[in-house]
Amino acid sequence: MARLRCECGNIISNNYSPSKTVGILCGQIDAEALQRKIENTIEDYILSVREGKESDWVRSYFKNECTYGPSAVIASIMSDYELRYHREVLECSDCGAIFIAKGADSCEFEIYAPKSGEYNSVLNCMES
Ligand SMILES: [Zn+2]
Repeated sequence: MARLRCECGNIISNNYSPSKTVGILCGQIDAEALQRKIENTIEDYILSVREGKESDWVRSYFKNECTYGPSAVIASIMSDYELRYHREVLECSDCGAIFIAKGADSCEFEIYAPKSGEYNSVLNCMES
């Protein structure tokens, strides 16, 4: 969880989900690598189901004895990889400054400010 003070004085955080001012950043090279890893892992999981070894695969992947349904397994595979390849992004709702995490699992942020100095809702493509 991050709680950051913007240079404009606004406090921004990622404590609530979903949020219009929190998102992710993933470069094209990382996105393609991520896609391949997700596909390979899901394919490996499906193969284990076909061979009747799903329980062993799930126990090995999750490192515990929990039971998961196929949709939960696939969702977990996707979110696990996404956490490794995405940087968190927060946008100041007052001045539009963009805070980008310095790494996939980092709580340190670099600030990028729009020339307009205005909030642009850049993390909300579905609203346009
Ligand atoms: Zn600001």
